[in-house]
Amino acid sequence: MVRTRQDMIRGSMTDAHCHLDLFDAPAKIVEEATGRGVDLIITAGGSGKGNAGTWNLSRLPHVYGVIGIDPGSANEDDGYFDELEIMVKGNDKIVGLGEIGLDATVENSAAAYRQVEVFERQLEIARRLEMPVVIHSRKRLDEVVGMLVEKRMPRVMFHFFEGDEKEAAELAGRGWLLSIPPAESGKRKRIINEIELSNIVTETDSPVVGKTPADVFQVIDYIARIKNVSPVEVAEQTTKNVKGFFGI
Ligand SMILES: [Zn+2]
Repeated sequence: MVRTRQDMIRGSMTDAHCHLDLFDAPAKIVEEATGRGVDLIITAGGSGKGNAGTWNLSRLPHVYGVIGIDPGSANEDDGYFDELEIMVKGNDKIVGLGEIGLDATVENSAAAYRQVEVFERQLEIARRLEMPVVIHSRKRLDEVVGMLVEKRMPRVMFHFFEGDEKEAAELAGRGWLLSIPPAESGKRKRIINEIELSNIVTETDSPVVGKTPADVFQVIDYIARIKNVSPVEVAEQTTKNVKGFFGI
């Protein structure tokens, strides 16, 4: 068998954000990914149905979950938030709230003010339970950051960070994490150059963007090439970042 760069970092890669509940055979997907060196997978909910699936799948070995109501599901009725809190408390492999935030682009989007209301309630739950938050922000970054600052959220991860390098530097300066997806661009390259490895994590957002969590190797390799360090170093540091962030 040919030894690839991926084989060399076996057992130390982390996919900080994917959606295992959207796969037909999630347990098999996890097994394949762990066989290829992805040792830690954070699967994210975002809707009532997604959260139920995520809650169950977080029980798998190597897997942890975050649950919450994403901006596209912000029409969920208020009663759901009590249920959400009970679900978070009732499974110690649910390690944060996510993906939550604001999105100006989702189709059939809930009214902008409703998204704010829903986001705010979940920040309050996270504060109360002393849990980190995984953020989904599209074209409303200033508002999202404003609310996070106002609520004094200590542990924040921006999933699929889409801002520019100046915004990246500001968020990193607050001690927050930026998650890099498998989507290369000039802007993303500048972000990776701009911020320290200690503020970076890697994700596939599979099956939405990457095909499976195993694709996280591509992101690790991309970062390694830009920062001119070894993929092992990127894998180890980003895994350490994720573990520290979620307290795993
Ligand atoms: Zn996602």
